[in-house]
Amino acid sequence: MLKERVTATLVANAGVLVEYNGVRLLVDGLHHEEGHPFSKVPEETLGRMMDGVDPYASIDYVFFTHEHPDHFTPACAADYLKRQPVKGLFLPAQVSDDSARLYDDAQGRSIFCKRFGLAPGEMERCVLADGVEAAGLGARHMGPQFRNVRNDCILLTLGGSNLLFTGDADHVPEFYEEALSDVVLDAVFVNPLFFHHPKGRAVINEIFRPRYLAIYHVPFEQDDDLQFGKLVARDIERHGRPDVQTRVLQAEGQTLEIAPRPR
Ligand SMILES: [Zn+2]
Ligand SMILES: [Zn+2]
Repeated sequence: MLKERVTATLVANAGVLVEYNGVRLLVDGLHHEEGHPFSKVPEETLGRMMDGVDPYASIDYVFFTHEHPDHFTPACAADYLKRQPVKGLFLPAQVSDDSARLYDDAQGRSIFCKRFGLAPGEMERCVLADGVEAAGLGARHMGPQFRNVRNDCILLTLGGSNLLFTGDADHVPEFYEEALSDVVLDAVFVNPLFFHHPKGRAVINEIFRPRYLAIYHVPFEQDDDLQFGKLVARDIERHGRPDVQTRVLQAEGQTLEIAPRPR
């Protein structure tokens, strides 16, 4: 059955499966690497994706905000393209050899493939299907050690609802102010550090102004050695706003349903 409501379901870390009207889009949802404190996509889940088993059957478009191992494993994505009929792939502009190969591979299979390559604050839109659009919004990664890493925020427009996935983008107003000046955001996904920082919350409250705020990129409870879950709970208690529906996405399968905007 086609779902006319937009749903966003957590896969792992910043991996989210979005569904609207029979179209499925996966953001930052193909990774399986060690060496970071966040959760990788579980083996079993990856298996279901590769085999096209629900809820991961028939994913139409795959997006990545940036090439860090907790968001994007090029080898996983390459496997996925071999196994499932993806319509389009959106890759970060700054690439490793692995992701350059993935790009060539996708092109060889005549899969629509896009590298946004956007400067911070720059936005580019693509129409994907009837009532379905995707845009990249250029930003820089947060944290001084990643100053040179670009992070493309992904804006999905689904039947009039706008969902923004910020990945690990930094909370710099100039990245968002102008590009989003005519966009009414229904749901915004930010990581715990974005929400924790007063500058991050200022961007959320003054520029994004979403109806739904999802804090994602939180390790699964069993992986949460650094206790991001507690940090987020405390921040919501202190800084949550009554006019914004704020949700923490920390467990696989948790779903945020975006109700249509009141007219
Ligand atoms: Zn990152
Ligand atoms: Zn990350």
